[in-house]
Amino acid sequence: MTLKVGILGFGGLGQAAAKLLSAKQEMQLVVAADKEGFAYDRNGLNALDAIATYQSKGSLGHLETGHLTQDSIAEAIATAKDVDGYFLALPNLPNTFMASVAKQFIASGWKGVLVDAIKRTSAVEQMIALAPELEAAGITYMSGCGATPGLLTAAAAIAAQSFAEVHKVKITFGVGIANWNAYRATIREDIAHMSGYTVDMAMAMTDAEVEALLETTNGLITLENMEHADDIMLERMGICDRDRVTVGGVVDTRNPKKPLSTNMQLTGRTFEGKISTHIFTLGDETSMAANVCGPAFGYLKAGKQFHQRGIYGLMTAAEVMPAFVR
Ligand code: NAD
Repeated sequence: MTLKVGILGFGGLGQAAAKLLSAKQEMQLVVAADKEGFAYDRNGLNALDAIATYQSKGSLGHLETGHLTQDSIAEAIATAKDVDGYFLALPNLPNTFMASVAKQFIASGWKGVLVDAIKRTSAVEQMIALAPELEAAGITYMSGCGATPGLLTAAAAIAAQSFAEVHKVKITFGVGIANWNAYRATIREDIAHMSGYTVDMAMAMTDAEVEALLETTNGLITLENMEHADDIMLERMGICDRDRVTVGGVVDTRNPKKPLSTNMQLTGRTFEGKISTHIFTLGDETSMAANVCGPAFGYLKAGKQFHQRGIYGLMTAAEVMPAFVR
């Protein structure tokens, strides 16, 4: 059975997600939305056409199957009733935006699977608070299912199995992108983690201000002790307290080569009293897009299996094994 899939948000991650799906047999992209419009075709959208139109004309609404509208999410949900699940590749700006989109789905009466790749602890907490409403609405919501949180949090949950007590989880990411423009929300949200900045400040910055800031750092954003939901996702599973989890990294906005190898290191004590560290390192050739979109659809497929069994509500990447999408 081929799952009909939607993508909300058609920036860096949304476009990569569309490309990734075009090579899959088990999932078909039928609807996608950006800020200015959406396109829906029950027989499938062509990823390359969609990307070309978005890049040249600014919105999917200019496609033959498209509609230009300032209320694209609500209209896409109402139009594409046959969609099994959505990947929410939207910016979480302000920090309450994704929760407001989840509420829109709840209010619409649509039933299916939603997957996000949100990052902040406070953003995932908002989703956890919505769990009873999602459950009552017949929605299976998979939160924090990108790379970090996501793939690396899941790796920590697996690594923890060797230990009687987990002392420390340290996630360090390296991201290289040729141009910050390709991932504007990601970069703005990263700036919001820099000392002296907030989400509201980063959201309000003009493009010229972002460029001026990146000019002062030679295009690099170095982050430490970020507010990242990997902490509550692992705490929720009883793996360790949130204060034992740290996330940081380096983003190079001027070079597609990763400035460092993304890795997760989990240190713990085994039942025999030995202290040791498991390390999970991502291949340097794998892009942020590959490490976010791959897991997101793996969790969408897993979410669909729960949904078919009548299991609704909220789950995170730390509590479910992603399925593999062929
Ligand atoms: P982007 O800025 O490149 O694109 C955002 C897209 O969303 C655009 O197409 C825009 O038109 C659309 N959009 C904005 N507001 C909208 C609205 N109200 N209705 C409909 N569409 C709207 O974003 P990006 O860099 O691809 O990042 C997307 C998200 O993914 C960010 O929140 C980022 O933090 C997250 N992310 C997560 C991870 C992870 O590992 N968990 C990694 C990278 C990025």
